[in-house]
Amino acid sequence: MIKETQLRVEPRVAAIEGELRDALAAGEGINPERIQGLRIVKRSIDARQRRVMVNLKVRFAIDEPLGFTSIVPPIDYKPVPDDAPQAIVVGAGPGGLFAALRLIELGIRPIVLERGKNVRDRRVDVAKISREGIVDPDSNYCFGEGGAGAYSDGKLYTRSKKRGNVERILGIFHQHGASDDILIDAHPHIGSDRLPAIIERMRATIIDCGGEVRFLTRVSGLVLDAGEVKGVITAAGDVFDGPVILATGHSARDVYRFLLDAGVDLEAKGIAVGVRLEHPQHVIDRIQYHNPAGRGRFLPAAEYSFVTQVDGRGVYSFCMCPGGIVVPAASAPGELVVNGMSPSHRDTHWANSGMVVEVRPDDLPQRFASHGVLAMMEFQREMERECFRQAGNTQVAGAQRMTDFVAGQPSKLLPPSSFAAGIQTSRLDQWLPKPVSSRLRKGFRIFGKQAPGFLCKDAIVIGVETRTSSPVRIPRDTDTLCHITVKGLFPCGEGAGYAGGIVSSAIDGERCAEALCQSLKTDNSL
Ligand SMILES: Cc1cc2nc3c(=O)[nH]c(=O)nc-3n(C[C@H](O)[C@H](O)[C@H](O)COP(=O)(O)OP(=O)(O)OC[C@H]3O[C@@H](n4cnc5c(N)ncnc54)[C@H](O)[C@@H]3O)c2cc1C
Repeated sequence: MIKETQLRVEPRVAAIEGELRDALAAGEGINPERIQGLRIVKRSIDARQRRVMVNLKVRFAIDEPLGFTSIVPPIDYKPVPDDAPQAIVVGAGPGGLFAALRLIELGIRPIVLERGKNVRDRRVDVAKISREGIVDPDSNYCFGEGGAGAYSDGKLYTRSKKRGNVERILGIFHQHGASDDILIDAHPHIGSDRLPAIIERMRATIIDCGGEVRFLTRVSGLVLDAGEVKGVITAAGDVFDGPVILATGHSARDVYRFLLDAGVDLEAKGIAVGVRLEHPQHVIDRIQYHNPAGRGRFLPAAEYSFVTQVDGRGVYSFCMCPGGIVVPAASAPGELVVNGMSPSHRDTHWANSGMVVEVRPDDLPQRFASHGVLAMMEFQREMERECFRQAGNTQVAGAQRMTDFVAGQPSKLLPPSSFAAGIQTSRLDQWLPKPVSSRLRKGFRIFGKQAPGFLCKDAIVIGVETRTSSPVRIPRDTDTLCHITVKGLFPCGEGAGYAGGIVSSAIDGERCAEALCQSLKTDNSL
């Protein structure tokens, strides 16, 4: 007999199969030997009380083998027909890759054009930023196969309410090699060490089914005819024909420029900027698990999430990476930007998160007005350049102890950090834009009261965190997902302002592929 049950158990019981079997058997009133197989299908940690517990949903088999039942059935990708229509997908981040896979399901041949290198070769350029301070404008933490998501934490949780869509995306990651855990955990994550191989398998599916993926192919303009997109042109002068899914991410500033120059409507959008905050992981474990001894053997590195309002603007933690590292995420020379990621085991000594303040277009100083809809992008760029200048024109990031930042005093010595490019003392409290630094200081005091021990001298702030979302929206029709005035253009993912994170960008990629397919049907060309 196959059964499913909910259990609330100690972390040790959740981690050791024999103990879990005993707990299940006790609940059923049977001998543990009659349980021939068990499988956790949902897992979440409840650390709200002093005694930390794990909530489980377990499927188990009594007096028969369990057999493997995938929670999300794999998709049977079939080659597109020889005479299939083709569509251009610009960008091989989560938005572009999931759009391409969905186009294949719908019988359309995707031609994926990616400015960066394949996910393996890209690794060398990413390492160069830390080792030599060199940023390749086409191959870095934001650009290249897998997009910004490739060398990320690979956190797969999202605020998207449509569970069906989320499970489908998780299922596709699983089908391409992500572990079973992502289908189980309440806060699933893949890890920066595992993501590249998964991305390579997605590329193989696209190519095996008749699609194309071209690297080092930077799109530099749209081919427009009477207000309709007919294709794209690349920096090398090649032209690719077809309707276009534009999934170029939030860091492709040149793309916003060429769109604007071609008369494509854009809208200004708010963003959030601030710093990366790094604690020793054991400090966070002690706070979150209410235990001076830390997390022990059976609990994962603890996470946190903070949000408050200060002087009318949101101040919050963003992209928290337990057991992770801080990485240099600039996408052009002359900029210094930080972000965070973790390996699959989340086992470094550090915990980091973006600590950011909401900035609205109206908040910007008057001097940005001349940039029109690109004002927020220029504000972002100015912060990144200032950060680079403060670092002596290097990638050795400015840092300050959290307590000194709040007290408005310099840090004489800094504690060790995970940031491979190195850190140096800097007065972030003085050179960050005042509305940002003053709100952050107040926010840190509030968070320190909510979680005693969080505001501490062993934590450092590192500058600057600016790439939290797109500074521009590319407006599209809510039903057709086509640009509001330019036919044949489907703005997609984070860079278009319709997603934030890996899963929501992937969902948006699928939706854009479906919308593009619908538009071809409407035009009677499919
Ligand atoms: C270090 C780091 C850690 C992160 N961690 C997480 C996390 O744990 N969980 C999470 O949900 N999100 C995370 N994010 C954010 C997440 O990566 C993005 O939200 C997501 O990748 C956006 O997907 P996208 O496809 O819209 O754009 P992107 O991933 O930015 O992809 C855009 C692609 O377009 C390409 N491109 C740009 N311009 C052109 C052009 N002109 N021609 C051709 N190609 C072009 C780029 O090279 C890139 O590959 C992280 C980001 C970073 C940088």
